[in-house]
Amino acid sequence: MNKEITTEILEEWLENVRPYAYDGQVADYIPALSRQNPEELAVAIHYIDGSSIHAGEIEATFTLQSITKVISLALALMDNGEDYVFDHVGMEPTGDPFHSIYRLEQLPSKPLNPMINAGALSVTHMIHGDTPDEKVGRLLSFVHEMTDDHTIGYNEEVAASEFETAFLNRSLLFYMKQHQIVTGSVEETLDAYTKQCAIEVNVPQLARIGALFANEGRDLDSGRQIIPKHFARICKTFMVTCGMYDASGSFAIKVGMPAKSGVSGSVVASLNGFGGIAVYGPSLDEKGNSVVGLRLLELLSNRYDLSIF
Ligand code: GLU
Repeated sequence: MNKEITTEILEEWLENVRPYAYDGQVADYIPALSRQNPEELAVAIHYIDGSSIHAGEIEATFTLQSITKVISLALALMDNGEDYVFDHVGMEPTGDPFHSIYRLEQLPSKPLNPMINAGALSVTHMIHGDTPDEKVGRLLSFVHEMTDDHTIGYNEEVAASEFETAFLNRSLLFYMKQHQIVTGSVEETLDAYTKQCAIEVNVPQLARIGALFANEGRDLDSGRQIIPKHFARICKTFMVTCGMYDASGSFAIKVGMPAKSGVSGSVVASLNGFGGIAVYGPSLDEKGNSVVGLRLLELLSNRYDLSIF
C-alpha cells in the first residue's frame, strides 16, 4: 500500500488547486444546490488499513447525489440478485449526459446502465421496501453500516427542492413505466430517489465508503463482509466505465481510478489495495464533474502512480 501521501501534501495540493474553485459553475438545476459555496474545498483519504488523512473544510457537508447510485446498486443487487437487476438495467456506457432520455427509445428500452438517471431510478425502484421512506430507511441503514456512523441522514431541503423540480426524472420514470421497467407510483419512486440523492456526508465519511469498496466490501474495522465481494466488484466496474458521466473515458486515461461523481461537486474514488479518496469542490465543469476534484485526483494519480491501468 502506497502511504507516502501525508496530510501536509494534501494541504499543499489543495491550495494549489484552489485557484480553480471558480472555474466551473455550481449546479443550479436543483435550486437548493445553487446555494453551495464554491470556496468550500476538502479532500480525504481512508486507507484500507483503517487510517485516514484529510485537508480543507472537512466539516463541510454535501449531498451525495449521483454517488448514491453506486450504493443503491449494491443494495439492489443484495436485495434481488444479479440476474433480476440486469434484466431491468443494462451494463453498457452511453456517452450521453446523465439525464438523457434519448436511448430509452431504442430497443430494448431498458436503461443502458445504473449510473445514468434512467438506470438509477429503476435501481431505486428495485430496492425492497413498501414505501419510499422504507426504501430510504434501508439505504440509510446500509450507509450507516458502511461508515460505522449512525448520524448520517438526508437533507430534507435539498430532497424537497429536487422533488419539486425533477421534471426530467419524472419523464424518464413515465417512459419506463410505459415499458414495464418500473411499476407502481412514479411519484413514490421519485420521492425515494430524491431523498436518496440528498443523503448528506462529509469527505472523511465518503472516503470511508470508497475504502469499503476497495476492501472488497469488507468492513474496515471488523472485516465483516458488508457487500458481497462480487457485487462490490460490479459497482467498481461501473465506476470505471460510467462513473464520471460522459467524461468517464478521459478520466480513465488521465486519472485511471474507479470513481463516481455527483452534481454537488463530490467525487469518490476506490482503489483496491489502497483505499478510498473523497474530494469536495462544488464548481462543476460542463460534464457535471467537480473541477477541483478532477485536478486533485489527476495530481495524486500522476504523482503516486495510482492509475489501475
Ligand atoms: N439528483 C440528481 C439528479 O437526478 C443527481 C444527478 C447527479 O448527481 O448526477 O438529477
